[in-house]
Amino acid sequence: MATAIRFYSTNRRAPAVGFREALLKGLAPDKGLYMPERIPRLSAAEIAALAGMDYAAIADLVCGKFLRGQIPESDLAALARDAYDFPVPLEPAGDRCHVMRLDQGPTASFKDFAARMMGRLINYYLLQGNERLLILTATSGDTGSAIANAFFGLKRIQVLVLFPDKEVTARQRKQMTTLGGNVSILAVDGKFDHCQALVKEAFSDPELAHMRLSSANSINIGRLLPQIVYYFYAHSRLRRRPDEPVVFSVPSGNFGDMMGGVLAVRMGLPVRRLVIATNENDEFPGFVASGDYRPIAPSRNCISSAMNVGHPSNLARLIDLYGGSMDEKGHLGRSPDMERLRRDIFAVSITEAETRQAIRSAYERLGLLLEPHGAVGWAGLQKYLQEEPAPGQLCVSLETAHPAKFPEEIRSILGFDPPLPPSLEGLEAREESFATLASDYPAFKEFLQKKYS
Ligand SMILES: *Cc1c(COP(=O)(O)O)cnc(C)c1O
Repeated sequence: MATAIRFYSTNRRAPAVGFREALLKGLAPDKGLYMPERIPRLSAAEIAALAGMDYAAIADLVCGKFLRGQIPESDLAALARDAYDFPVPLEPAGDRCHVMRLDQGPTASFKDFAARMMGRLINYYLLQGNERLLILTATSGDTGSAIANAFFGLKRIQVLVLFPDKEVTARQRKQMTTLGGNVSILAVDGKFDHCQALVKEAFSDPELAHMRLSSANSINIGRLLPQIVYYFYAHSRLRRRPDEPVVFSVPSGNFGDMMGGVLAVRMGLPVRRLVIATNENDEFPGFVASGDYRPIAPSRNCISSAMNVGHPSNLARLIDLYGGSMDEKGHLGRSPDMERLRRDIFAVSITEAETRQAIRSAYERLGLLLEPHGAVGWAGLQKYLQEEPAPGQLCVSLETAHPAKFPEEIRSILGFDPPLPPSLEGLEAREESFATLASDYPAFKEFLQKKYS
């Protein structure tokens, strides 16, 4: 039997650790991101057999490949079954294209997929060790509510979510601020990048080390692994033969979702191309084109607000996987294998006008209701298909949030209110509770020390 997979830091100045430690730490002590030392593969027979398995079973198989020897198989199967109790619709969208709706979880965002599994894994290990943890997370909209909901009510865990004051919709805010209990919410006068910087600084502050902080951002390895699963799932439902290649289009911000796809490819999933679509925060398409990386600061405000990221925190993982190095500040050390990167990834930036146009035309031509993030992915896929036409090509575009989370935008473009999914009903009437803070580290530190010491 193969030995348990260990996880190394992308900065390579911290020791490799087992899954439990990587999960509970979040960020490595040298501020790098944890990556698996070895990427397990699914055999052709295993990929063929996925067609007969449900989502939870596929999640158990795919995540289990990384966790063998680190969590008993039956325990992982039970966690997966508990986490994935909602449907994953694949909506036909012309020719052989589909939209995968990752919006049927409790917060109507694809982040439920990662957060629910990670929450259950953390809870599992804390119960075993009789330990406590404070989860600190920055959100640009959907992470916060997914995390807050995934951890709500867990006795050994406190959760503090930071969000940029003016960058989340009222509905997104209410999904976090109406929970209470072990979940606290902080509105920061700034942008998402500021929230993220505050959280990162707290993690590396030795005076806060006693608090047992952990991150639930997309940098946590416990969120990355579950995001590999839906790529395998979509392929297993749609392919005509087990080795038929598929094109995925991924609307991207912090690149956790994209890294899930990249890892799926390395695990053996037959993928022709990953389309990585950003909004006007186009630092990544620029990098793929030129090999020169320029973060965007401050990030640009687009209607796909969860993707307003000027420096994607998971980029260091991608660079690492392609043989390069990037530190936590976004400085490129060694260049990655750009040729291979360009072969695997088609990176494209979608303007605000193109995003709105995609929402309009998808609805008028195909009866397909998209919200701004999914529309960026959809528009990116159309650009790819124009540039590299391949009739009959199997394509899947990811829809990452429910349209009802963006009623103002949908109403202004299509002239009607999208129907609410059951998970969002009754939200308006619930009472909100949150604190506010300037984007200032000393003030944040004092808040933490007062509240949690
Ligand atoms: C977070 C988010 C994204 C971007 O995902 P990343 O993993 O950060 O690239 C896209 N759409 C929605 C709705 C999101 O909440």
